[in-house]
Amino acid sequence: MAKRDYYEILEVSKNASESDLKKAYRRLAMKYHPDRNPDDGDAEVRFKEVKEAYEVLSDPQKRSAYDQFGHAGVDPSAGGGGAGGGGFGRGSADFADIFSDVFGDIFGGGGRGGGRAFRGADLRYRMEISLEEAVQGVEQDIRIPTQVECDACEGSGAAPGSEPETCPTCNGHGDVRVQQGFFSIQQSCPRCQGTGQVISDPCRKCRGNGTVSDQKTLHVQVPPGVDTGDRIRLSGEGEPGEQGGPPGDLYVEMVVKPHPIFTREGADLRCDIPLSVTTAALGGEIEVPTLGGRVTLRIPAGTQSGKVFRVRGKGVKPVRGGTHGDLLCRVMMETPVNLTGRQKELLEELAETLDQDGQHHNPRGSSWLDSVKSFFDRMKL
Ligand SMILES: [Zn+2]
Ligand SMILES: [Zn+2]
Repeated sequence: MAKRDYYEILEVSKNASESDLKKAYRRLAMKYHPDRNPDDGDAEVRFKEVKEAYEVLSDPQKRSAYDQFGHAGVDPSAGGGGAGGGGFGRGSADFADIFSDVFGDIFGGGGRGGGRAFRGADLRYRMEISLEEAVQGVEQDIRIPTQVECDACEGSGAAPGSEPETCPTCNGHGDVRVQQGFFSIQQSCPRCQGTGQVISDPCRKCRGNGTVSDQKTLHVQVPPGVDTGDRIRLSGEGEPGEQGGPPGDLYVEMVVKPHPIFTREGADLRCDIPLSVTTAALGGEIEVPTLGGRVTLRIPAGTQSGKVFRVRGKGVKPVRGGTHGDLLCRVMMETPVNLTGRQKELLEELAETLDQDGQHHNPRGSSWLDSVKSFFDRMKL
């Protein structure tokens, strides 16, 4: 059976914020909780789905992997630990576990009620750059989704002409006391979500949220030497805080696109260079590309295919400091094709002379033959 999309399961959009996800999870976890739906197999399946989806999407790293690769990026059955979407018992321990997630902020110290300030969530943005840009540095503008104050209601959430009113349930305190068995506990007011105010006539434009979706442009300065996975922090550019809390940060994560010629290995760059049989045998000079231009490489006579030549200082200067890397050129000998009759004759003539002059012309072949011979000798074949 194909797995459902995690965003679809939580009934949120792909760019839902951390707090949107948490709200959706609370609502659905309570709706489908097995203790509320005894002997309802369908609800239990739904509950597991919701739990798994939230475990992935609430973890920024897993969410980014899921956004990129889908279920394959976060498959709980691959690689132990982590999301563990497996067994779910009906034991009370599990119940407590779930509800400490959902209600942790009520029982724990950090109550949401009473108008406490919360720091906004951190955001992550993947920025694709070329290898040249990663090595030399680049400046780029990025556009990211954001929430801005609704201009129709000036952020109050109440329709123009009306005002938010004091919540009658909590009298504006934001907290209410509820009786649970022997205990009386303080809990965030369910009617006003702890804000102390209710809106009877919500603003049409923002549906009472006080904010609307928009995009903002940010200027990102990428220093020379970054690599895939490096992150640049833009302080205060994350989600706005709640109830006067500071905003979160935006992390711009570098993704260096593959290059047609070079691959990067730490501070070094590697490339493969085709080499003709004649240049390899006779020696000569070949031009090899660097990220900034080209250099001439001297090929000594008798160079074997696969030999690596090091061009000093033509690699990468790492962003965290350290020595400048090198360019490692591996020469790959090419067998000539589409030979004319004359060219074939010349090669045959060459083959004869190589056989007849009693010299060692194939160092690898000779040593390989020696190895085979001693192997057979040992085996007494
Ligand atoms: Zn509004
Ligand atoms: Zn209230």
